[in-house]
Amino acid sequence: MKEKEIKFNFDNSYLNLSDSFYKIQYPSKVKEPKLVIFNNNLSEEIGLSSNALISDYGANILSGNLIYEESTPISQAYAGHQFGHFTMLGDGRAILLGEHITPNGNRIDIQLKGAGRTAYSRGGDGRAALGPMIREYIISEAMNGLRIPTTRSLAVVTTGESIVRERVEQGAILTRVASSHIRVGTFQYAVRFTNYENLKALADYTIKRHYSEGEKKENPYLYLLEEVIKRQAHLVSKWLQVGFIHGVMNTDNVTISGETIDYGPCAFMDTYNPETVFSSIDYQGRYAYGNQSYIMAWNLARFAETLIPLLSDNEEEAIELAQNSISKFNDIYKESYIMGMRKKLGLFNEEKEDDNLIYDLLNLMHKYEADYTNTFRSLTLNIKDNIIMFETTEFNEWKSRWQERLKRQRESEKEAIDLMKSVNPSVIPRNHRVEEAIEAAVKKDDYTLINKLLDVLSTPYDYTKDKEEYTKLPKPSKIPYRTFCGT
Ligand code: AMP
Ligand code: MG
Repeated sequence: MKEKEIKFNFDNSYLNLSDSFYKIQYPSKVKEPKLVIFNNNLSEEIGLSSNALISDYGANILSGNLIYEESTPISQAYAGHQFGHFTMLGDGRAILLGEHITPNGNRIDIQLKGAGRTAYSRGGDGRAALGPMIREYIISEAMNGLRIPTTRSLAVVTTGESIVRERVEQGAILTRVASSHIRVGTFQYAVRFTNYENLKALADYTIKRHYSEGEKKENPYLYLLEEVIKRQAHLVSKWLQVGFIHGVMNTDNVTISGETIDYGPCAFMDTYNPETVFSSIDYQGRYAYGNQSYIMAWNLARFAETLIPLLSDNEEEAIELAQNSISKFNDIYKESYIMGMRKKLGLFNEEKEDDNLIYDLLNLMHKYEADYTNTFRSLTLNIKDNIIMFETTEFNEWKSRWQERLKRQRESEKEAIDLMKSVNPSVIPRNHRVEEAIEAAVKKDDYTLINKLLDVLSTPYDYTKDKEEYTKLPKPSKIPYRTFCGT
């Protein structure tokens, strides 16, 4: 009997919150579920038998056609600022199967995305198309390979049904694994649509689940706010270091756990340019590469506002505490970013002039339209790799300064190179590679490119021969690369 073999270990603590935070929601059945991508490593890591899941029974579980006996599926309520405008949202197409306790004792959400209509679907069909679900799978797993906190992807199942978007597409369901799905938008929902007791219950729940040291603090809510600020500051700094553009940093897409979530229009930058935007709907460049830290601070200010009733009985004092915490974001972010960039240049210690060394290089990369990832890869390997910037006098002057700086530290050249290799990915999910893999799957039902790409992206800091092919840039194109919200 496969059911017992899968070994879900569900314990749905979210159900203990008021039912204004969720609706019990069974997935809508699909015609013909077929497992097309499966994450063996993740499955074993979280204590689920991959053998049992790679089966017809597994495809039925991972599509929501069968509900594991101990599961009480729910969809969660949340609100959010989308491009600055506040709206009621909620899981319009995602259903949480349950919180699974892993063999290591970690509590993780197992959620089906694209599992049918819910109480929060508004006008939507509750479904997802195959292409965007594969995209989320590839990029979230690439982020994990890059050691950046992220939700994970366990599987993609096709539904055997068509859905209507701009064209008719194949329907699919992604199984998303997250340390939780509590968002800034969940707190905004609590404040706007419920009451003080519910807000407090949500905050207490969140502290217990993600920031349990806070339970002992004099002001647990202040601790919660400051820790979320720290985690998100480090997260954005990591995004910038690898050239990641989230693309839709609405407050409902900012987790309280500090994991990257919602892989819709995200993409990695090729040519370095802080103004890079890929999302087809981001007309103003609100979520451009170089704006991400400002936007995160804005989003966290919205989070801080939700906590004001909890921070102190005295509102003035609460506002002051919130403002004081938010004002620390920029320094935490900047320090984290500069620390990371130092490592990218092989620097172990700190010198006052490091900021200039880093920004001068970035300015040259911008001026000479250098590829972000390959510049750092080439500096690591000490190769030219057809990068025009490397031929310029300006760059060579910069390089001498860098070499001098390296000589002033105690560590050897070999140690510096090893440090660089450990933080400069040799490969990222290049847009043209991701697109070609998705196209083969969607048009020809051929998953070989996807599996190869996933394998390469699982160890991006390995500088092995098999990676070289994936460092190549796309052919120049007059049409800029565009991404779409993951519908
Ligand atoms: P996202 O752009 O993925 O952050 O989604 C924004 C909101 O739209 C969330 O509340 C989603 O649940 C909802 N949504 C997105 N696509 C659909 C769909 N096909 N059906 C119902 N709701 C959807
Ligand atoms: Mg979202």
